[in-house]
Amino acid sequence: MSTQKLAGKVAVITGGNSGIGLATAQEFVQQGARVIITGRDPETLQEAARQLGEAVFALRADTSRLEDIDALAAAVRERFNRIDVLFVNAGVGKFVPIDAVTEEIFDEMVNINLKGAYFTIQKLLPLMEHGGSIVLNASIAGLIGMPNTSVYSATKAAVRNLARTLSAELVERGIRVNIVSPGPVDTPILDRLGFSAVQLAEFKDEIRQKVPMKRVGAPQEIAKTVLFLASDDSSFVLGAELVADGGLSQL
Ligand code: NAD
Repeated sequence: MSTQKLAGKVAVITGGNSGIGLATAQEFVQQGARVIITGRDPETLQEAARQLGEAVFALRADTSRLEDIDALAAAVRERFNRIDVLFVNAGVGKFVPIDAVTEEIFDEMVNINLKGAYFTIQKLLPLMEHGGSIVLNASIAGLIGMPNTSVYSATKAAVRNLARTLSAELVERGIRVNIVSPGPVDTPILDRLGFSAVQLAEFKDEIRQKVPMKRVGAPQEIAKTVLFLASDDSSFVLGAELVADGGLSQL
């Protein structure tokens, strides 16, 4: 008997070319899955596909564009004709005080983090059957009050609620929906927050001090958490949020 936890499964990971998504793609491949990864940057997508080997199929798709999600659904239908695991992970974070938030900043985060997540699930759902597992990547920012994250946190709080609502809506179809909420994790997102190099170094120091474990997480630690929710190991877990944050939001 295979000891791989996703043997023979087909998994889609949005934003699988970087950070948590990439680490999860790697973990899923090791666990026997065939994995479709999406992202916006063709170069990092190809690099990720090359690194991960032939169990991975990379597709350029901007999650904020409905036509790209349609193209993703069509490509998955044509090549695999089903999805067992969907990790809705693509996301962006800009940490900006409320006075400086523009409509553009607001729309970018809402369109990617919320609208993208919503329509990814809606459009990929017809490919999922009884036994399917959907995992949404939220954030502890959607749980606690973190200054300068008003838009980001609102999108993540919405995603947390979406997971619970869809859990209730899809339970009769045998599809489980759960949430992973990471705390600070060492990924390229930290370099994209909009901080200068000095501000970023200060931010990282401050965060490390605040985390009870006195460190940030590694993407592989979140990937293991996602694996639990994606696999049958969590067969009785539904509408739940698994927080992986070194204790930051809990202690
Ligand atoms: P990252 O910047 O390394 O990865 C983000 C991923 O999202 C990339 O693969 C990128 O291609 C993809 N993406 C962004 N915009 C997209 C778009 N329009 N269309 C398709 N793909 C798009 O950062 P990460 O830390 O790995 O972030 C992954 C998820 O984890 C995000 O949803 C983020 O909010 C969440 N998260 C991260 C942290 C952290 O500290 N790193 C903490 C909590 C939650």
